[in-house]
This record gives sequence, C-alpha cells and structure tokens, in this order.
Amino acid sequence: MISHGAEGARVVLCRDCLVESPGGDSSRCALCGSPRLVAYPHGNALTIAHIDCDAFYASIEKRDNPTLWDRPLIVGGGRRGVVSTCCYVARTFGVRSAMPMFQALKLCPEAVVIGPDMAKYVRVGRQIRSLMQDLTPLVEPISIDEAFLDLTGCEGVHGAGAPLTLARLARKIESEIGLTVSIGLSDCKFLAKLASDLDKPRGYTIVERVQAMALLAPMPVSRIWGVGKVAQTRLNNAGLRLIGDIQALDETTMFARHGAEGGRLWRLARGIDKRRVTPERETKSISSETTFDVDTADKEHLTRTLLVMCERVAARLKKQQLACKSVTLKLRTADFKLRTRARSGFEPTQLATRLFLVARSLLEKELDGARFRLLGVSTADFAAAEGADQGDLVDKDIGRERAREDAIDSLREKFGASAVVRGLAFKATTPKRP
Ligand SMILES: [Mg+2]
Repeated sequence: MISHGAEGARVVLCRDCLVESPGGDSSRCALCGSPRLVAYPHGNALTIAHIDCDAFYASIEKRDNPTLWDRPLIVGGGRRGVVSTCCYVARTFGVRSAMPMFQALKLCPEAVVIGPDMAKYVRVGRQIRSLMQDLTPLVEPISIDEAFLDLTGCEGVHGAGAPLTLARLARKIESEIGLTVSIGLSDCKFLAKLASDLDKPRGYTIVERVQAMALLAPMPVSRIWGVGKVAQTRLNNAGLRLIGDIQALDETTMFARHGAEGGRLWRLARGIDKRRVTPERETKSISSETTFDVDTADKEHLTRTLLVMCERVAARLKKQQLACKSVTLKLRTADFKLRTRARSGFEPTQLATRLFLVARSLLEKELDGARFRLLGVSTADFAAAEGADQGDLVDKDIGRERAREDAIDSLREKFGASAVVRGLAFKATTPKRP
C-alpha cells in the first residue's frame, strides 16, 4: 500500500527486491515489476513499528503440514470450544476468532480443525522475537505473535532506515521461519498498531504524521486503543460514533464530559500517543498457586490458602521492588474447568493485605458449591514500587497496613516465614471490609 499525502521528495521501497528508489508515479517496481511497493518521505523520521504475525497459529500448522495449505483451517478447542485462530481461507467463509466452534463449522463444514499446540507456538514466537531483537533492544512484545519495535537511532547499525530494515525483517521471517507478518510504521505506538492492521495479511503500511487526522476520522471509536464494547456504547450514547466526532470537540470539552479518560481519547483521536516502546521486562507476572491434596469447596480453607499465596506474591513483589495494578484469581474445578477472574486498574500495590482484599472479593463470587482442585493468584501490570501504597486522604488505611506489613516482614527476616506470623496476619485482615 502506497502512502500519499506528504509534500517533498519521496522514496519508494520494493518489498520484494528490497531496493529503495526515488518516488515516481509507477505502481510497480522498475527493477522487478513487483506491485508490493511502500512509499515515504525522503529522510523518513518514522521509527516506531508494530509487527503482527498473520493468522499465527493457523499459519504455523499450515507450514508444518503443507497438505493443508489451501484448505480452510481452524485452530481451536475441539467441537465444543471456540475458534482460537482461523486461516484466511476459513475467514472467507465468515469464520472469526473467538467464534463458538459449532457456529464456525456451520459456516464452513469442510474446515479442518486442529487443537492448539501452545508449546510449539511459544517456541516459534520466541524465534521471531529474537530476529526482532537482532534489530533493536527496544522490542516490546504485546502477545505471543505481535510486538512494538523502536528503531530510533538504528540507522547506522543496519545501514538502512527503518522502512528498509523492517522490509528485510519481514523477508527474513518468511524465509527462515516460514511465516508472514504485517507491519505498521509510524511515529507512535497507537498509529503503528493501527497501521499494521490496515493491509493484512503480508501488509506494510506507513502512516505519516500529516495523514493521521484524515485516516482516523472515518473510523469507529472502537478502533481507539482500549475502547471495548462498554466504552464504545458509552461514547455512542454521548453522540460519539466516529473518531472524527471526537476530533471535532476540543480537549477541555472531552475532559469535562469524560474525565481523564476523555483527555486520553481526545489525544488518541488525533494520533497523539506519547507512550514509549519499553523492552520486555524480566517479569511479566508474579504468581503463586496451590494444588490441593483433596478437592475442596470449603470457604475458610480456600480463603486461608489465598492469604498465604498473597503473602508469597507480595514478598516477591517487594524483593523485586515492583508494585502491581492487576490481580488475577485462578481456580480449577474438580472436573478440570478453569475459571480466571481478574481485577485491574487499582492504585499500584505490593502489600499482601491489599492483594488479598482484591483476590478474596474475586474468590467469594466463585464459591458456588463447586469443589476446587487448584487455586492460584497472579499479579501483573507492574509499576515501580516507589510511591506505591503511600496512602492519601481517601484511603488512610494504607499507611497503617504498610506499617503493619513492614513490621511483619522484618519479623520474618529475623525468624523465618513462620505459621504464627501468618496466622497473625490472617486475623488482622479478615474481619475488615469486603
Ligand atoms: Mg496476529
């Protein structure tokens, strides 16, 4: 896809022969005749990329079994499950990810269904990530098959600017790993991610700063990062259907009507996104889980176990000087059904008592008589510990909790994590607010 709209000298890159040449009107490469061209201003300053594998699980299965290459393929959890990924052939029948399998098979009865092989997908995802990391240390994975790359200042190392470097990477992934990716390149994460989705599969879209407003204007507000079904309905009810509707308002109005979130939406609607590409942290989540010797439905037993695990998790958070903004409770029932319940978006914390209050409120909703074989708690969405759990006018309890936990922690350092201290913490916390 060729980008138009900017003034000045332009460069055209052929994604097949990987040659950059001065921009012209031709829609095909002068050297090899390929139509797969991408254009950008001379001295391109766009260095933030989003790379997304095309139909990742399905493409891996097709790669590994070439007899499937032209058949509609669904990777998913058997006939009673849902579609994890479907190939582009299956998509022409209307099959989509997250669709119930019976519905997908009604649309496309001839589809081949394969159960997911996560271990294999993780392995392939790592291979691709390591090719990305050869280009820049600033690789921020956002799922198994997609990542942001910041190529700022990498020109000297690669002897090429970001556009050519990325085209080379796409070719390398095709030839060495046998999968295709779609690339979005812009000057911020939001536009890069949006761009990678515009020309799938095997796409390459560059969104220049001057194009951002016009590109975004006709899109539904749901295309803005973080606007899910609920937020979309809320915005629609406020008369905001298209991103252009938000662009038409001034920042103060958006802020007045929709709070801090309104300010964020106003900026993203204009393609303004200051978030940096932050390389993968060593730690993506800190968690603890327990498999019971005997399946249990006993509230007190589950609650006590949960507290012990929250304390373990808190100790690790403190050790790594992290605070979390999200807690996930994991339960596996006696018949192996998995339940996960999460809460996120609270003030960063590393205190066991706070983790426990959140996790316990999630647990209590699940106590429906089911017997559980496994209980787990995990934390994610980390922030620096600095400034966490300081307490404020609204929540004066935090200061007290912090002091108490500090005292328990130092006792533990002296005497070890004894059951007595745990019991103390248990009594001190359970009777409090839900
Ligand atoms: Mg993908």
